[in-house]
Amino acid sequence: MQYRKPITCELVEFRCDECKKGVLRVISDKPIIHSGGIKQWPHRCSHCQAEGCMTYPFPLLRYMGEEFVLAKHVRAMTSYSGIEGIDKPLHDEQINALTSSVSEAT
Ligand SMILES: [Zn+2]
Repeated sequence: MQYRKPITCELVEFRCDECKKGVLRVISDKPIIHSGGIKQWPHRCSHCQAEGCMTYPFPLLRYMGEEFVLAKHVRAMTSYSGIEGIDKPLHDEQINALTSSVSEAT
């Protein structure tokens, strides 16, 4: 059973290497790329619009030494297609996984 509680955590942003002003954000309408067994999320700078791939979807949340990613970025479509179940929403399972992880940490 899920439950919620307030926590204090840090927002982890990735500053754009090109302009040093904007921050990188996941491009939600582009698929996650699988390369050499590693997932990469396409990002775009909020200021100069430069694009690049990152191995984590930014921004992250940091809490008790662990980094958490947004569920919507975990269940986003990947560059694989035609694999059974790949487009099935995993939202509840991911929320449960996050909730149990947080519970164990307290
Ligand atoms: Zn930039």
